[in-house]
Amino acid sequence: MGKINGFKEFNRKTQQYQPVEQRIKNYSEFVIQLAEGELQNQGARCLECGTPFCQPNCPLNNVPPDFNDLVFRGKWREALKVLLSTNNFPEFTGRLCPALCEAGCVLGLIDKPVTIKNIELSIIERGFREGWIKPEPPAHRTGKKVAVVGSGPSGLAVAAQLNKAGHEVTVFERADRIGGLLRYGIPDFKLDKGVIDRRVAVMAGEGVKFVTSADVGNTVSAKKIKSEFDAVVLAAGATIPRDLPIPGRDAKGVHFAVEFLRQNNMRVAGDVIPKREEILATGKHVLVIGGGDTGSDCVGTSIRQGAASVTQIELLDKPPAWRTEETKWPTFPGPKMLSTSTSQEEGCTREWSVLSKEFLKDDKGNLTGVRRVQLKWINNAKFEEVPGSEAVYKADLAFLAMGFLHTNPKGVVGELGLQIDARGNVQTDGGYQTNVPGVFAAGDARRGQSLIVWAISEGRECARAVDVYLSGSTRLESKNQTLSDSLR
Ligand SMILES: Cc1cc2nc3c(=O)[nH]c(=O)nc-3n(C[C@H](O)[C@H](O)[C@H](O)COP(=O)(O)OP(=O)(O)OC[C@H]3O[C@@H](n4cnc5c(N)ncnc54)[C@H](O)[C@@H]3O)c2cc1C
Repeated sequence: MGKINGFKEFNRKTQQYQPVEQRIKNYSEFVIQLAEGELQNQGARCLECGTPFCQPNCPLNNVPPDFNDLVFRGKWREALKVLLSTNNFPEFTGRLCPALCEAGCVLGLIDKPVTIKNIELSIIERGFREGWIKPEPPAHRTGKKVAVVGSGPSGLAVAAQLNKAGHEVTVFERADRIGGLLRYGIPDFKLDKGVIDRRVAVMAGEGVKFVTSADVGNTVSAKKIKSEFDAVVLAAGATIPRDLPIPGRDAKGVHFAVEFLRQNNMRVAGDVIPKREEILATGKHVLVIGGGDTGSDCVGTSIRQGAASVTQIELLDKPPAWRTEETKWPTFPGPKMLSTSTSQEEGCTREWSVLSKEFLKDDKGNLTGVRRVQLKWINNAKFEEVPGSEAVYKADLAFLAMGFLHTNPKGVVGELGLQIDARGNVQTDGGYQTNVPGVFAAGDARRGQSLIVWAISEGRECARAVDVYLSGSTRLESKNQTLSDSLR
């Protein structure tokens, strides 16, 4: 794999970004990809390691050693084939995945890991550029019909796989556009929405039908869909956000993060937001409550809207910038290791170990600030308030970005009588089958709030379960057996 001693010859190089002052002027993606030759050198850094931990670290079981090697050898089309054998949508993960694979790269033990994510994105983008990615409708149709509820990455992956197996798939989406959180959560500067449209066009060309503005269990009867289709897959996401029920919560200017992000993505898409509903950070002091990805997206969006100041606070302690016993290689450290997102780089103040106590408002009910207190964490398990540390953040807008609790228990879940588990997710049988025969669940609706790579993985595995249910067996790829395995 790669070039013998390539890791000694070439240092890790990653994609670059446009300078901050340039990129915050608009909502466009700002990544500057490496040139082809440089990417080949990066592929050359892949070791012929005995056990490539990059692969099991990836929920899709992607095979970086194989596509790294093919890129190093300039065999881009073959690399694309390997990549697509495990991942339907590398254009999403190549842009947005936190790269669990790179955390497990063996080279990372002694040097910087191989830049797998950049290589992945370059392979798929080249595939589109060269016209290698075209609709490939299945040769045979089974006559079975499947309804997929929800068009986020899990619903799209289920649909793509079941269509490939020859079933007739219809995706029902309550929003006016396809894509789930890819469309209406993640900002355009991280994912240009044309990337979703391009993929949806390929899927439509393969025969997948898309129905938008169809809220199943509300405007569209779930029971009717159940009776008209041979199987139903619920991929409706974990849409209930965690609230912060402290005094003053009703202040004007306190919003859930996704309300703000959704509205901005609609605006960028050309929609007109009624004046009275507008949430705009322009000229305002913004407080983002929650230190994760969603909070970061609020930071970048507020900065682009021209906020007067942006502060992001986190309840937990500031994590170390290095691996610890808890996050030792090849673990993906996630939020347990300090990282700085591109949005945070653009100019926000970050504070940790902060508890919000009260939203303060003026006599018209408008938010004016947030009373807070500093915390002292004891063994990362419980906290104490630091006496005398009370202070007030000046804030005209506060965005609640503290994660999502679970899927909506009403609507389609309620109408079909689906069981939910102790965490509020749709309960399945250890696989993807719910308590109602013929109804399956995948993605954040089943797993709880997670990552795009997990949503795609769930979608692919769920499609196998549905195919077995409909056909008695399946030839869809299992994540335990990849194309690369069969080539070896
Ligand atoms: C702001 C934000 C930023 C994120 N950034 C990243 C990131 O950078 N990288 C990463 O890996 N992950 C990120 N995530 C997480 C990632 O987006 C999710 O894990 C992923 O989208 C889950 O996919 P899904 O298909 O299960 O659900 P979703 O993407 O939530 O899609 C569910 C879809 O179902 C639809 N739906 C719900 N109910 C119904 C109904 N009754 N009828 C019809 N349709 C319905 C919804 O409208 C939605 O379109 C982010 C999440 C947020 C909120």
